[in-house]
Amino acid sequence: MDPVDHLMRLFARAGAQRYGGEAVSQLGHALQCAVWAQAADAEDELVAAALLHDVGHLIDREPEAAMAEAVDDLHENRGAHLLAECFPSEVTEPVRLHVAAKRYLCATDPAYLDRLSKASKHSLELQGGAFTEREAADFIAQPFAEAALRLRRWDEAAKVPEARTPSLESFRPLLESLVTGRNSNA
Ligand code: FE
Repeated sequence: MDPVDHLMRLFARAGAQRYGGEAVSQLGHALQCAVWAQAADAEDELVAAALLHDVGHLIDREPEAAMAEAVDDLHENRGAHLLAECFPSEVTEPVRLHVAAKRYLCATDPAYLDRLSKASKHSLELQGGAFTEREAADFIAQPFAEAALRLRRWDEAAKVPEARTPSLESFRPLLESLVTGRNSNA
């Protein structure tokens, strides 16, 4: 199947699910995050990463894993893995690092921790809590760490109930232009 069609189908099938404990759907959250990225004049790859950062939540999981809600499901790795089949690392790496970015921000920006939603504070514990100084230094030294931090700020802001957003379909040309092998500039 066309990779962009595959992503659209994942959203069509599971996008109405609630986004964690927030008053917004998975699809609404994804679209809001992409809109923030566009408003910040982010490059197309980072807009796509913002749109797709939680796609790991939409993929079918093993029943045991789905039931074990107390265990962090490492959705960032599952999402990045899926996206790596068709997108470059400029898309996949910010997705893979977006949970680590939260742990970094919690370690380095006390105001960020204060502003986290209740659900996000809860998942932070499951994700291992704030980074130590050493972990934070290792994180920020990675390629795409800054992109992941930008994505993370939009992620936190993309939880507005009933926010108006463009349609998922409106992002199709942007996604298709980034599919590996189709971009004439690649
Ligand atoms: Fe998110």
